[in-house]
Amino acid sequence: MVVKRLGPSLVPAEIVVPLDKLGAVMDEIEHKINLPVVKEGVIVKKGKDGKPEAIILGFIPSDQRKFSYNFVFGLVLTIMKIAEKYGGRPYSTGLYFTGKAAKILGAERVARIKTFKKTVDKKGVLNPGKVVGRGLVSRALGIAKIFEPMVRPFGNNVMTQVGERLEKPVRGIPADVAWYAYACSQCGYCVDECDQFYGRGWESQSPRGKWYWLREYLEGRVDWDQKMVDTFLVCTTCELCNLRCSASLPIEPSWMKLRGKLIHEDKRMTFPPFEMMAAATVAEGNIWAGYRKDRSKWLPEEMKAKHGPGTKAKTVYFGGCTVSYVENDIGQAAVTLMDAAGVDFTTLGNVENCCGTPMLVAGKWDVFAENMKKNIASVKAAGADTVVSSCPACDMMWRHVYPEWAKKLGLEFGITAKHYSELVSAKIKTGEFKFTHPVNKRVAWHDSCHIGRVSGVYEPPRDVIKAIPGVEFVEMTHHHEEAHCCGSVLTLIKDPLIAHDIGEMRIGEATAVKAETILALCPCCEFQLRVTKEKKHSPVEIRDLAAFACQGLGKTFADPSDEVSRQWKVFEGMIALMTPQGFANLMGTMWPEMLKAMPLGMGGMMKFMGKLGPIGGFMFALMKPIFPILFPKLLPGMMPKVMPAMLERVGAMIPMPDYMKEQMPAMMPKVMDNLMPHMLPDVVPLVVPKMIAYLRGRA
Ligand code: SF4
Ligand code: SF4
Repeated sequence: MVVKRLGPSLVPAEIVVPLDKLGAVMDEIEHKINLPVVKEGVIVKKGKDGKPEAIILGFIPSDQRKFSYNFVFGLVLTIMKIAEKYGGRPYSTGLYFTGKAAKILGAERVARIKTFKKTVDKKGVLNPGKVVGRGLVSRALGIAKIFEPMVRPFGNNVMTQVGERLEKPVRGIPADVAWYAYACSQCGYCVDECDQFYGRGWESQSPRGKWYWLREYLEGRVDWDQKMVDTFLVCTTCELCNLRCSASLPIEPSWMKLRGKLIHEDKRMTFPPFEMMAAATVAEGNIWAGYRKDRSKWLPEEMKAKHGPGTKAKTVYFGGCTVSYVENDIGQAAVTLMDAAGVDFTTLGNVENCCGTPMLVAGKWDVFAENMKKNIASVKAAGADTVVSSCPACDMMWRHVYPEWAKKLGLEFGITAKHYSELVSAKIKTGEFKFTHPVNKRVAWHDSCHIGRVSGVYEPPRDVIKAIPGVEFVEMTHHHEEAHCCGSVLTLIKDPLIAHDIGEMRIGEATAVKAETILALCPCCEFQLRVTKEKKHSPVEIRDLAAFACQGLGKTFADPSDEVSRQWKVFEGMIALMTPQGFANLMGTMWPEMLKAMPLGMGGMMKFMGKLGPIGGFMFALMKPIFPILFPKLLPGMMPKVMPAMLERVGAMIPMPDYMKEQMPAMMPKVMDNLMPHMLPDVVPLVVPKMIAYLRGRA
């Protein structure tokens, strides 16, 4: 299907002809059709009547955006007529050639299909008009065939720019993405294994559905709304679709470009929790709202003299936010393994910043770029030229994204990225490193999308696992480049329930092969799988690769599951709060403060109206249409006045750690400033009836 990239559209003409007539058929097609016909074929040894046949799939490059596209279908009729002239037939009935069903499928089979359809689909809901129906299109084509010689010259004179490349953005969509939208053949190979599709079951969530929607957008039939922005944003960036695509389209990179366009350029709303993470990242350099001064606390005491900040080495171990603030065992174990393997490295301590992945996928590219610059400067200041990570997202930044962005921004880079499993695996292979203690467990390995499909690191983690004595290693159904996504981050913060379902499917693969433990190396995968395990009450154990492997050295680290659970409760609370309903509920707890904060005595006036009984009710009914205009104008002025009450209520609703509570007065106003302009149209209709009920004493 790579031929579809010739596009923008292909008109298919699929025929079956007796093998001994193939040459004559091809000659006549060449003779009668002036437009290029791309052909591929299959030979069937025993076709109809037991004789050999050739199945030819022909495609005529065309352009569905032009009216002349319709004439090209006339050429399909020409090809069909040629096939029939030589004893052939259309390849399938589809919607257009149902009149030839008996010839294509055989009369007996058609009768069986008709009987079956009558039994199971009395109302003709399934594929109406297809295969055995006699729809309008099929009848029209039957008539058109009579006029085929007259239609053919029109088709033959259609001018199509084969291999068209767009040079300019179309309706704001980058030129290459607009071209890919037409290059997609709608074959559907990408659908089933897109976690967004199998998590929700909606075609619009799959790459095929998104390309289809983009075409509709490019042709002006639909427009962006927040739902559609969210649909593109929620892709987990697992990159399985890139592998599946029959037209080799760079699907995930295209969605990434759209994140930049929609959020960074057009200033549309990203997922609200990202606003909180952005505020924390700008203030303290991490997404968990921990204090910068606490960033390096995870580093084991005994490692500080040899590998702590300030020690000199050409290699830096880059922990990342989640390792530093939530799942400390990942970092502690990774540096223990590297130390035991004789790797010379240093750490950045409190000058390390978030790698920026969350801000990149959130479309908050200015925050991303700032973080990247700080990180590059910190590594250079440490005198290093290599960065080793445990987190696949950090690895992806240092290995792929930073070099590209540094080039784009004219920054000198010159840094190499590696994963710690690559270093340890190399030392195992040379015999310089050995595990000493047996670990008797049956384990399955979860290939994280970013270390696997993105960076191609498949074997080193397996080498580490297999080198531990006593371990019984099993592969899950989907592994290596076929591995399924855990459903983390984008899905987890947008639709936690869907993320739990996707996570459960991945955990199910491990239990299916009777693994006691799922090993992973990605902090986000581990976080997501731990949350899923808790929500779905799965008995399987989730362990970090390095922490597990350290048992092979006789060392153990504290299990971070309780901290994950505690942090997830904060996130869960924030996700629920940062929705139109969540904000409406929050406002519903603050009417006295809200009314007091209204300018020009409006709050007092509304309270008075509330006491006027039916007259007040009538006045509120008159005012109702004004509120959607009034609220957006009043709220910016009211926000500073209601902020103390808001912080108090949020603090009571969400079980935040102290360090986060302390920072909320600085973060919350920024978050509200960024979110409210986008959210108010949805919040106001929810808030107004509640406010009127409160004023009338009916709340
Ligand atoms: S990257 Fe993954 S989640 Fe995103 S569209 Fe592709 S398959 Fe779906
Ligand atoms: S994006 Fe999906 S539907 Fe489109 S060509 Fe690729 S695999 Fe087929």
